[in-house]
Amino acid sequence: MNAEIIAVGSELLLGQITNTNATYISNQLSELGINVYYHTVIGDNPTRLKQAIEIAERRADLLIFSGGLGPTKDDLTKETIAQHLQAPLVFDEAALTHIENYFAKRNMTMTKNNRKQALIIEGSEVLANHHGMAPGMLIAKGRHTYILLPGPPKELHPMFQYEAKPKLAAKLNENGIITSHVMRFYGIGEAALEDQLADILEAQTNPTIAPLATDGEVTLRITAKAQTQQQADVLIRAEVAKIQSRVGQYQYGINDDSLASKLVEVLCANALTISAAESLTAGLFQSELAEIPGVGDALMGGFVTYTERAKIEQLGIDEKLIEQYGVVSKECAVAMAKAVKAKLGTTIGVGLTGAAGPTAHAGQPVGTIWIAFVIGEQLYTHQLQLSGMRNTNRIRTVKFAYHYILQALRELGYNINKA
Ligand code: ATP
Ligand code: MG
Repeated sequence: MNAEIIAVGSELLLGQITNTNATYISNQLSELGINVYYHTVIGDNPTRLKQAIEIAERRADLLIFSGGLGPTKDDLTKETIAQHLQAPLVFDEAALTHIENYFAKRNMTMTKNNRKQALIIEGSEVLANHHGMAPGMLIAKGRHTYILLPGPPKELHPMFQYEAKPKLAAKLNENGIITSHVMRFYGIGEAALEDQLADILEAQTNPTIAPLATDGEVTLRITAKAQTQQQADVLIRAEVAKIQSRVGQYQYGINDDSLASKLVEVLCANALTISAAESLTAGLFQSELAEIPGVGDALMGGFVTYTERAKIEQLGIDEKLIEQYGVVSKECAVAMAKAVKAKLGTTIGVGLTGAAGPTAHAGQPVGTIWIAFVIGEQLYTHQLQLSGMRNTNRIRTVKFAYHYILQALRELGYNINKA
C-alpha cells in the first residue's frame, strides 16, 4: 500500500502555518510500513482540490486528507470528496449528539453551521474526535482508501493514532503483519554508521533498515513483514543483534526514547541524583531533563552562571583559576562540576562551558566546548569542537553531555537497557 497526503488550507500556501500534519502522518505511516510517495498542499478551492484527488488516485492507494472539516464556508474537503465519490452527505447521529454535548458543556449556543460538522459521507466509517467537534472519516472504495482528518494537530494526532491507525493496521494484517523497531544512536555520524553497516544495509530485504539523522542523532528503523507477530519479532531481534555487534556502543535507546528520557530512567532506577552548573547552555541541560515526568527524584537543581562573576560568586570558583585558564577551559568546567556537586550534594555534578558563537569567547574559537562531570569520585572531561550555529551548538552540547554521562554510567556497570 502506498499513500499520498493531501493537506488542505490556503494558510499553508500563504506560509502562515507549517504543514506539520503531513510530517506527523508520514512518520506514523512509516511505522506501519506504508510508503508515502507524495505530499500535496492545496488551497481552499474545490476545483483544484478535485484535480488533486484525481491525480492522487492515479498514483496512490491511500489518500489522507488533513483540514477543511470545520463549520465555516471555506471548509470544503468533505463536500468536495463526497461529490467526487458521488456519495451523499448524511447526518451521523453520534456525531450530532457529540457536538450538541460539546456546546452544552461549555454553555455555548450552537449555530446552524455547527450541525454541518455532523454530516458524514455515506458509507464511511466514522473516526471519533475526542478533542474537537468534527468527526473524521475512512472510506474504502475500489482499490482506494480515503481518510479525512481535521486540521488542528491536537485533534488530528489522537484521531490518527487511536482511530485511523488501528483500522489501517487491520487492513494490512489481512496479508500478514508489519512491525517496526527503532534503534537510537548518539556519538556517531550517519555516514560513519552507514559505513560500518554497509554490507548489512546493502543486503537488506526483510527486515528493511531505514537510517535517519536529525540533530546529531541517528536512528535506524527496522521493519519486518511476517505472518505472525512472533515471526516478525524473531526477524527484528536477529537484525538488531547483528547491528549491535558492530555499533552497539553508540546505541542509547529504542523507539520513543530520547537521550534525556533515557538518562532520567537510568538515574531514577538507580537512585542517583544530578545537578548542573551551566554557562553556554544557560539552563537547557536542566530544562530538557525537566520535560521528563519523574525527574524530580533525580534532578536536584543547579546554577546558570553565565558570566565570570557569576561563576566566582555563585559557585565559588577561584578567580586565579579563571585568570590562568580562562572560562572556556577544561579546568573551569571541572571546577564548575565539582562546585555544583558539592553545593547540592548530588551523586553527579555537571559543568558546561564553551564558546557557542557567533564570535570567539575568552580567547577560544567558536564551537570550543568543555563538558565535565563527576560521578561519585570519578571525574570525566570531554572537549567538543562544534561547527554549527549558536543555538545548534547549545543544543548539541546538552545532547553530548547526556550521551557521555550515559556512556560513563554504562562503563561503571549500570544497566542501560537498550533492548
Ligand atoms: P476547524 O474546525 O478548526 O476549522 P478544520 O478541519 O476545518 O478545523 P482547517 O480550518 O483547515 O481545519 O485548519 C484549522 C487549523 O488547524 C489551522 O488554523 C491550523 O492552525 C491547523 N492546521 C490546519 N492544517 C494544518 C497542517 N497541515 N499542519 C499543521 N496545522 C494545520
Ligand atoms: Mg476550518
